[in-house]
Amino acid sequence: MTIADQIRQVRLNIDQYCQLAQRPECSVKLMAVSKTHPAESIQQAYESGITEFGESYLQEAVDKIAKCRHLPITWHFIGPIQSNKTRLIAEHFDWVHSVEREKIVRRLSEQRPAELGPLRICVQANLFNESQKQGVTAEELPALLAIADQLPNIELRGIMVIPPPQVGYEQQLEQFLRVKSLFEGYADQYPLLDTLSMGMSNDIKAAIVAGSDIVRVGTAIFGPRGTNHQK
Ligand SMILES: *Cc1c(COP(=O)(O)O)cnc(C)c1O
Repeated sequence: MTIADQIRQVRLNIDQYCQLAQRPECSVKLMAVSKTHPAESIQQAYESGITEFGESYLQEAVDKIAKCRHLPITWHFIGPIQSNKTRLIAEHFDWVHSVEREKIVRRLSEQRPAELGPLRICVQANLFNESQKQGVTAEELPALLAIADQLPNIELRGIMVIPPPQVGYEQQLEQFLRVKSLFEGYADQYPLLDTLSMGMSNDIKAAIVAGSDIVRVGTAIFGPRGTNHQK
């Protein structure tokens, strides 16, 4: 199947899950996660109407962003962030979904070029007490949200989660519903908080039914990723 075929299928699935959840079809954004895939694949996905792209490996991403300069793409950084990488992220991306430390979000705010406008961010949360997992705990989340909300060049827009993998739909749904209810509490508190970033190729249905605002889909669009990517 071509990238265009895969995107058509993912879109059909999203529409179907929205109907199932009685949500408007356009209420879920589709981010194509293009990490490890070449700029040509991004171009093809763009021609199928995708404008939101997610990248995890900074150097590779910066190269592809340069190659895709001619396309009006919204770039999302979704990978782990080392503090010496914040400047490049602040200069090249529109969104960052993987904010999990105060130091990082402060640097992103300081290093964001004024002419680009505020950097939109999601705080990544690890809500299921998984050790060795990216993200702040449920206890740490309110403090980081409060800090991000105060920074001048940061627009706090959401929360990103990657729950522990579950094979069964019911288990996936149960986890996502817990995240959704937590998110709604914070959305009452922060009026700009409109982006619950959850759902990937293997759990997109449960994520949409539970109320995701943006799904991050890699494999189901571009196929399996190679392992010799450049970080
Ligand atoms: C790689 C990645 C994805 C995409 O995963 P697939 O299973 O290929 O859809 C989504 N979110 C994050 C944070 C990722 O790193």
